[in-house]
Amino acid sequence: MGGLVEKKGVNLFTSFAGASLIEEGPGIAGVITEDKGVDKNGKPKDNFTPGYELRAKVTVLAEGPRGSLTKNLVSRFKLDGLNPQAYGIGIKELWDVPAGRIETGFVGHTLGWPLDSSMYGGGWIYGLQQNRVSLGMVVALEYHNPLFDPHEAFQKYKTHPHIRRIIEGGKLIRYGAKTVPYGGWYSMPRPYLDGGLIIGDSGSLLNSQRLKGIHTGIKSGMLAAETIYEALCAGDTSAARLSNYSAKLEASWIKKELWAVRNFHQAFAHGLWSGLVHSAAQFVTGGRGFVDPMRAKPGYQEYSKLNRDGGLVDQSTRFKGDGALTFDRLTDVYHSGTRHEEDQPCHLVVTEPNICVDRCVREYGNPCQYFCPAAVYEMGMEKGAPRLKINFSNCVHCKTCDVADPYQVIEWKVPEGGGGPNYEGM
Ligand code: SF4
Repeated sequence: MGGLVEKKGVNLFTSFAGASLIEEGPGIAGVITEDKGVDKNGKPKDNFTPGYELRAKVTVLAEGPRGSLTKNLVSRFKLDGLNPQAYGIGIKELWDVPAGRIETGFVGHTLGWPLDSSMYGGGWIYGLQQNRVSLGMVVALEYHNPLFDPHEAFQKYKTHPHIRRIIEGGKLIRYGAKTVPYGGWYSMPRPYLDGGLIIGDSGSLLNSQRLKGIHTGIKSGMLAAETIYEALCAGDTSAARLSNYSAKLEASWIKKELWAVRNFHQAFAHGLWSGLVHSAAQFVTGGRGFVDPMRAKPGYQEYSKLNRDGGLVDQSTRFKGDGALTFDRLTDVYHSGTRHEEDQPCHLVVTEPNICVDRCVREYGNPCQYFCPAAVYEMGMEKGAPRLKINFSNCVHCKTCDVADPYQVIEWKVPEGGGGPNYEGM
């Protein structure tokens, strides 16, 4: 799509990450990109370039799920929706398989296995062109066991006889992971403010039943563009004028589609079986179900469901895979094409490291070592004391740690622009 819009005369500046927003008066007035050429100690290197201040009459936030700018904006300007946002972690692999294993266009969705019935999640199997298969699994981040490893669960998923039959003898091509915003219509933040609009996954526009959000992301971008055009013609980019974007969302098929599944994810708050009953009721009532809205408690966060089953576990016993059908996390990271400049400040900022090496060890057993699908966090011993090592260059930018850390002391910041996974073709 980048190529298409450039042909229309639009300038695209890739490899620049938005590090902060320019706040002015009651709203925003643009973005400041990150400084480039800073070493791991925060000192400027020879190629240091300070961030650019990009001013705009209207700034559109399209950062995907758990965007670092959007997160701060929603909190600072109190834009929260009725329900707190809820997230799942999605893990995906692409495989090339022997001819005849799967039809092009095959679509398969699964629920549950290998997850237990207290968890919410499932997988997909899509037959792509030229004997390529997309396989993946999404798990809600409100599970109980702090040592649960979503990457390992996905690897087990591939050992199901039906999936094994498709991919055995094939070759892993690509790997990726990303959070998905499950909250739906009732978790939508107010998507407009003075000088700003929020679209796509950042605006909670994912269809949580179908796990699809690209179509709503594109449509919301189109509606935002119409709104901005009208606002610029009228010379008024205030929140009152930009609220037309909300009206356009309400009048579009986005509302119709998301309204029908507005309580879908919340239905599974108490596990699979009650979720199936609630979602069946929603199916026949057009999304209303037994309770509408199905509300999470105000301030609810996924990690609040974690059991406090702490303690250090010998990491050498962790799942390694068989190297043919199943893999360890580092092999998968290799297939994500992830690259970061090594000599830069760590973009995963632990604001209170003492909590990690003391309370978190005892209370939760450092779940960051388990929920991260890229082996970024490693708790080890140094001079007889626990120490957290952060292998930030492995990070596949899924944002799970920013959501699932039980003390909320991990902050995902933008790394130097251009770094990260290569998800082309994913
Ligand atoms: Fe995902 Fe955080 Fe691990 Fe990066 S460090 S891969 S954002 S969980």
